[in-house]
Amino acid sequence: MKNKLNFLLILSILANATLGFLLFSNNLVKAKLLLMRQFGFLAPETAPAMESIVLLQDYKPISLLNNQDTRKLKLPSFPVFETHGHLFKAKPEEISKQLTELGIKKFVNLSFTTGEDFQKMKSEFSDPRIIHFSTFDWEKLSRANFADEILISLTKDIQNGTKGIKLWKNFGLNLKKFNGERLRIDDPALDRIFEECAKANLVISIHTADPAAFFLPIDKTNERYEELVRHPEWAFSSSEFPSLKTVLEERNNRFKRHPNLKFVALHFGEYANDLASAEKLLTENPNVYLDIAARIDELGRQPYKTKAFLTRFSDRILFGVDGPPDRGKLEVYSRFLETTDEYFDYHPDHKPRKGFWKIYGLGLDKSTLEKIYYKNAEKLYK
Ligand SMILES: [Zn+2]
Repeated sequence: MKNKLNFLLILSILANATLGFLLFSNNLVKAKLLLMRQFGFLAPETAPAMESIVLLQDYKPISLLNNQDTRKLKLPSFPVFETHGHLFKAKPEEISKQLTELGIKKFVNLSFTTGEDFQKMKSEFSDPRIIHFSTFDWEKLSRANFADEILISLTKDIQNGTKGIKLWKNFGLNLKKFNGERLRIDDPALDRIFEECAKANLVISIHTADPAAFFLPIDKTNERYEELVRHPEWAFSSSEFPSLKTVLEERNNRFKRHPNLKFVALHFGEYANDLASAEKLLTENPNVYLDIAARIDELGRQPYKTKAFLTRFSDRILFGVDGPPDRGKLEVYSRFLETTDEYFDYHPDHKPRKGFWKIYGLGLDKSTLEKIYYKNAEKLYK
């Protein structure tokens, strides 16, 4: 009995010592080097300074590739028509100053406002370079006659000078009707509303779904794992949401139903990682445009295909960086579109990383650049 107890005591001391040893991972490195030397391998006597455990969210390697942005002028070479702007918490005078400084000739404010809020925003930001969009009055969804009510709000916004409608990703994913059902983008109840938009020559800027990775389980195979752990609210993999394929199909039905209405499928129509589908969308729907906002990360990791695509569909691609005027973003986007620089960050320092990769410049020709930077938008918003 006593022997048994002694044995257990020794075992427990050994286990604790091993655990303590393993807790300091540098010990493992030292042990490994010692072992290697014992077997005659060339291994240093002093263990290298090493952070042997780095949290994934802290891992930000600095590339040693000599690939500085050597452009004298780092902003776009042409005037810019920002088609995916937002003016949250911005000061009107500040914005006007920035538009001038950054060479932004027009700025589409994709606001989420309607009614009085829309009017207020429009009069506050009265710079003639700003084009204001309103949104559908989704609060009316709680009533059975929501389509009539939304139509009334829309008519007012049109009278108040809206140039288009901004629709956000909640439409199609989790906006609910009065009866608790998910509001599908192709719900026939909305047909009249979209037809009214066509009559008023509005442009519909629609953000549908999100990157494909956000619809997959957040596990070791997910290429946006670290980002989704930071932003679990962006995950749509649970059964309360429809699949990515379903939402995009419902949206595409809407595009087909209104050939006289112009749609901008924001964020490259969520096909930036799947250019074959993007090609199908543009070929089948002459009324649809794509913007590159917040998707140069996807486009720039397949530069050969993207260059061919943007050149072929140069009349259907719009420029936008998503958000208020931003010098850092303009520098990165113009580097991507204009140069053939390789392996650089798709985000300025003040914006977080998405997937763990870098991008390559496209070196587009002058005519394609001009169309993307402003000419296509000038035609669309005239
Ligand atoms: Zn946006």
